[in-house]
Amino acid sequence: VQTVHDPAAMQAQMRLRLAAGERIGLVPTMGFLHLGHRSLMALARPLCDHLVVSIYVNPLQFGPGEDLETYPKDPAGDAAACAAEGVDTIFMPADLYEQNHCTRVTVSGLTEGLCGADRPGHFDGVTTVVARLFGLVQPSIAVFGEKDYQQLAVIRRMVRDLAVGIEILGGPLIRDTDGLAMSSRNAYLSPPDRQRGLSLHRALRAMSESTSQSVADRLGLGRSILTVDSLDYLQIVDSESLRPLDIIDRPARALVAARIGGTRLIDNIGLS
Ligand code: AMP
Repeated sequence: VQTVHDPAAMQAQMRLRLAAGERIGLVPTMGFLHLGHRSLMALARPLCDHLVVSIYVNPLQFGPGEDLETYPKDPAGDAAACAAEGVDTIFMPADLYEQNHCTRVTVSGLTEGLCGADRPGHFDGVTTVVARLFGLVQPSIAVFGEKDYQQLAVIRRMVRDLAVGIEILGGPLIRDTDGLAMSSRNAYLSPPDRQRGLSLHRALRAMSESTSQSVADRLGLGRSILTVDSLDYLQIVDSESLRPLDIIDRPARALVAARIGGTRLIDNIGLS
């Protein structure tokens, strides 16, 4: 695996590969890689000639008081994970943006609810960094995880609306053996907090196993199972539009965000 730090060098290298007819695949991450990230690399690997994993903790998507300064890092472990998945290039810029950069990419509608309501500006930060990564890496395909279900929907919409011409693939949410959705932020959890964190998956699973068509019933069931310090949201929405539903009469998704200790956890599940 080669590691490239300089954005201009990255763009120049990828331009040459593109000119040589190579298909570039991109998996954007913030590092501290786990099996969830690795599943996205494994998905992309057979679909491209040159696989790039970007590792960048993007300040634009963090709000005041969030964990930008303390976000976990493990460059050696990340390099080993990428090597094991057959990654060709790790793109790890110290700084990704131009000086005095002033362009933001905003996807409206999809970003107002769910995590967008609790984290103002977060999705503008995500779409802006992803647009810049797309410009630098010039991939044919890019892979994102269903762990961040709303993020995946927002990126698909950006790519459609701006005719970006990159194929977006979604990878399934990967869980630890105890059921907790894998996340770099799980490193913040003490063992008792982790136990309480398992209630997110337990609640979602009960909601997906319920046969009630009533959203109110399933939300009540989920809330009765959650053991968290505070609930940012628990919602059942249309899988595509992310609009809240009253009755489950189409493909739907249950999504949750909650705080345990100082840690914000998210999880989601498909509903039949
Ligand atoms: P992050 O490093 O948290 O920004 O995540 C980078 C990418 O990995 C995003 O597309 C996430 O949705 C995806 N990802 C993170 N955790 C998981 C997981 N447990 N299962 C599947 N994908 C994941």
